[in-house]
Amino acid sequence: MIHFSDLQIVLQEVPGEISLCISATGCPLRCQGCHSPFLWKKDSGTPLTDERFIGEIERYRGMITCVLFMGGEWDMDDLLHKLQIARTYSLHTCLYTGLEENQVPLLLKKELTWLKTGPWIASLGGLSSPTTNQRFIEVQSGKLLNESFLPSSNRKAIS
Ligand code: SF4
Repeated sequence: MIHFSDLQIVLQEVPGEISLCISATGCPLRCQGCHSPFLWKKDSGTPLTDERFIGEIERYRGMITCVLFMGGEWDMDDLLHKLQIARTYSLHTCLYTGLEENQVPLLLKKELTWLKTGPWIASLGGLSSPTTNQRFIEVQSGKLLNESFLPSSNRKAIS
């Protein structure tokens, strides 16, 4: 079962969406300079039972438009299950993973509206950096949406 360290409502991680964001613990990727090493320890934090997950969705129903998982792909069966639950509430779904896109199983992509891929590389920066290695895509169309994260003055530079 997925465990989480933090559960909050976020406005910027998925452009145009109000997201219930779950930070899963147990990340095995160990990116150098990781901003959240407390997420590395497997099964630390709180178990994300179905009851808890559904309870949070119900609590914010009508306000949230998306469920965002920060990791959790290492517990694939449970992540798929949770994404399917979110979709029964007609919510969009997003996963932030440090994996590359070709490492994300099709089975998982099918449950996702958006996907952020790529490990953290400090010298390249995150999604708000024009040099980032990370990619934010709309899964169904494959459209790259990184530009939505750039400060407006930098947007033309990569278009
Ligand atoms: S994927 Fe994210 S949480 Fe995991 S090690 Fe890399 S930066 Fe840290």
